[in-house]
Amino acid sequence: MQYFSTNGRAAVVGFREALLMGQPEDGGLYFPSQIPDLSELSGSAWSPGSEAETVFRLMHAYVAGEITDDALRAICEEAINFPFPLIEIEPGVFVLELFHGPTLAFKDVGARFMSRCLGHFSNSIGKRAVVIVATSGDTGGAVAHGFAGVEGVSVVILYPKGRVSRVQELQLTRTASNVITMEVQGSFDDCQKLAKTALADPTLRHNYFLTSANSINIARWLPQQTYYFTTIRQLAGKRVVFSVPSGNFGNIAAGLLAQSSGLEAKSFIAACNANDVVPRYLLTGDYNAEPSRRTLSNAMDVGDPSNLARICELFGNDIGRIRENMAAVSISDEETAATIKKVHEVCGYTMDPHTAVAYRALTRSHTRARDEVGVVLSTAHPVKFDSVADILGNNISVPESVAKLEMLERRAVEITSSYEEMVEMIKESL
Ligand SMILES: *Cc1c(COP(=O)(O)O)cnc(C)c1O
Repeated sequence: MQYFSTNGRAAVVGFREALLMGQPEDGGLYFPSQIPDLSELSGSAWSPGSEAETVFRLMHAYVAGEITDDALRAICEEAINFPFPLIEIEPGVFVLELFHGPTLAFKDVGARFMSRCLGHFSNSIGKRAVVIVATSGDTGGAVAHGFAGVEGVSVVILYPKGRVSRVQELQLTRTASNVITMEVQGSFDDCQKLAKTALADPTLRHNYFLTSANSINIARWLPQQTYYFTTIRQLAGKRVVFSVPSGNFGNIAAGLLAQSSGLEAKSFIAACNANDVVPRYLLTGDYNAEPSRRTLSNAMDVGDPSNLARICELFGNDIGRIRENMAAVSISDEETAATIKKVHEVCGYTMDPHTAVAYRALTRSHTRARDEVGVVLSTAHPVKFDSVADILGNNISVPESVAKLEMLERRAVEITSSYEEMVEMIKESL
């Protein structure tokens, strides 16, 4: 498979190159040059519990020739070692729980797959691979745990001190020895600036192979198609509407790509919080990026979603075709909180704020026909967001994986937002 840039001014590359580069030099996003036919993955001949086999068949189409089948199978089995339970919380409405990985969020899927691919290629790079990630909470944990113990790769995580939730802080600071966590006295934007400066620093680049592991990397993006296929199989014979909590629009772009490859879904809803550039774009046809606004569902506080470029590419830049396949809805914080409360009361189910946005978007925008079902993608466990306990007025029981973290030693260094200080710390630790 070859990958081209959505901006069309960079060289076409193979899987390895696209993985290592992350982003093409022209500022576009890598996109596969062919859409493979994966309709066999929709078939009911598959048994449940074959997540790893599904991701293998899927990714085989995207890496063929660059990783041997045996190595790819091992990567898939290690990366996708947790289930995607589908739970009917009320008649015709299912929650697809994507948070059974080590950091309790769906980002584990892409981060674990990417880390093992990078580990696979690390011998051929010739320098130590160093992944630098700035995080507002979820991404850092998934990347830190995804790369834990991966040979040949070190990870530097930058997070804003005091601005992540209790569970996120545990996940960011109880990590393996190849992960360096820096607690930055500053905002997420300060962290991002540090990461960007480092990635462009010729002195650092001379000594290390630097890369970013952010969500636009094809090795994080493409494997997310897996759970759309496993879900469609379980709901064989039904017309499925997927409601996807969307921030940078990678998750929903993966679903739409799967649909182009033969996934038999009826339609998709992009569920957004107050950051509503895409809902407004679909309504008016004008795209206006904005500074992000802070909301309860903070992993979706994105004012200029990168992966919209991939959705436009997929539909030939035809907004009419985008509208036919994807609706987009904006849900306020008030509605989100009310939804968490109501679903807890009526269905006895506790949702995190991102999942609640998607549930509300499904029920608000959609009257279901009789043979239709709605699937709400649940992107995080409610214990990850302190607001949920506040809204429900009671504590959420802590899963065992989190309780275990509490017993490990805290590994993090505190730095100011000075670039020189960060570089010193990297040199000392690597
Ligand atoms: C990252 C994230 C999202 C948004 O996913 P995108 O692919 O960026 O649209 C939604 N929910 C949670 C919990 C996340 O961590």
